[in-house]
Amino acid sequence: MESLSLQDAIAANLADIRSRLARAAERAGRRPTDVRLVAVSKTFSITEVLAAYAAGQRAFGENRVQEALEKISLSSDTSIEWHLVGHLQSNKARKAATSFACIHSIDSVELLRRVDEAAEEDGHQPELLIQVDLAGEPTKHGTAVDALHAIFEAASACRAARVTGLMVLPPFMDDPEDARAYFRRLREIRDELASRGVPRSMLRELSMGMSHDFEIAVEEGATLVRVGTAIFGGRG
Ligand SMILES: *Cc1c(COP(=O)(O)O)cnc(C)c1O
Repeated sequence: MESLSLQDAIAANLADIRSRLARAAERAGRRPTDVRLVAVSKTFSITEVLAAYAAGQRAFGENRVQEALEKISLSSDTSIEWHLVGHLQSNKARKAATSFACIHSIDSVELLRRVDEAAEEDGHQPELLIQVDLAGEPTKHGTAVDALHAIFEAASACRAARVTGLMVLPPFMDDPEDARAYFRRLREIRDELASRGVPRSMLRELSMGMSHDFEIAVEEGATLVRVGTAIFGGRG
């Protein structure tokens, strides 16, 4: 028997994920088109990225600025929308502000201001998501819930970048059902912020859910799911 080519395997994985996404959205009474799939290509090469692109995938996520810049330069003739899903160090804020359509990991007023200043100087308008730390693990990034109000106040002063929502990265759970409480909590925080007057335009997106739990995240309201291994295979 012939084994699937890389291209066919990635296309088949994408088709499977898209249909599972649509079914999860329908279970929750949501429109499948309200959920966007970000293909997390970290550690994979431009070959895999272009295979997914050929299968119709447009949004790709990376977790390191340097690694992303290489792939961005190798894909300049595509219409790929690049997302930064991993932690952003403030010394990389400038590069990130001008290279990504969306940064999922803003977690302080200072980082927000740095990214906005760089974006303004270079004429970019990246979308920014505020990463919320709901687990309180010392190794995880993200802002404490208490600090969200100050971040959204600073967001209304942004001149170029636009804050458009929230992101969460729960601790790894063997049983994906155990992540549901985190996803639900992020949605509740979004609703609380809205009821306290944060503009809806700043609360449009909920970035949550990965390969093993994206269906649960969609049931709980995710608008962006970040899926890597289920598309590209194991990271070895
Ligand atoms: C790697 C990564 C993902 C994708 O994880 P998979 O388990 O491969 O789907 C999603 N979000 C972030 C922040 C990541 O670093």
